[in-house]
Amino acid sequence: QPTDIMEMLEEVSDRFSFQMHQKDIQSVLSVENGIPAVPLDRDQIDQVLDNVVSNALKYTLEGGTITIAARRNNDHTLAISVTDTGMGIPQRDLDRIFERFYRVDKARSRSMGGTGLGLSIAREIVKAHDGHISLESEVDVGTTVTFTLPMREEGGEHLERAD
Ligand code: ATP
Ligand code: MG
Repeated sequence: QPTDIMEMLEEVSDRFSFQMHQKDIQSVLSVENGIPAVPLDRDQIDQVLDNVVSNALKYTLEGGTITIAARRNNDHTLAISVTDTGMGIPQRDLDRIFERFYRVDKARSRSMGGTGLGLSIAREIVKAHDGHISLESEVDVGTTVTFTLPMREEGGEHLERAD
């Protein structure tokens, strides 16, 4: 169903506002003007956002910033990104980060908790929406996860029935 992107992102930010406040993390929302409502499965995209934002929160130290942004690409896709100022991910791990149960290093994993499923679930959902998810990161600088979604139903307006 058509979803207002600003509203969806404000609600994610609200869901995490208590934890952000507790950790003294600033949250910034940046949504481009004029994005039309986008057809998407709200429960599933909320799951993607929650997985990605909870990582940003978990892997960012006190005093950091998490930015959630949305913009339209010129190829009729919507790009949503979550950027943090956290510990980052070493280059050598980036290829495998979306695999099930993959976590960066044992020491980090033990102290942080979690199962290593969040990103793999996010990728499955984004793929099921015909979107794409990617991650850029630099150790001790931060991480950006970006996913794209088609802005309208596949073939929507031009759909012709052959019967
Ligand atoms: P789960 O999400 O199942 O609770 P998890 O957070 O460890 O566990 P993923 O969300 O799949 O699993 O992330 C995989 C690994 O990628 C994490 O263990 C962490 O090392 C690294 N990672 C993910 N997001 C970030 C981030 N924003 N900053 C730094 N490292 C990250
Ligand atoms: Mg996670």
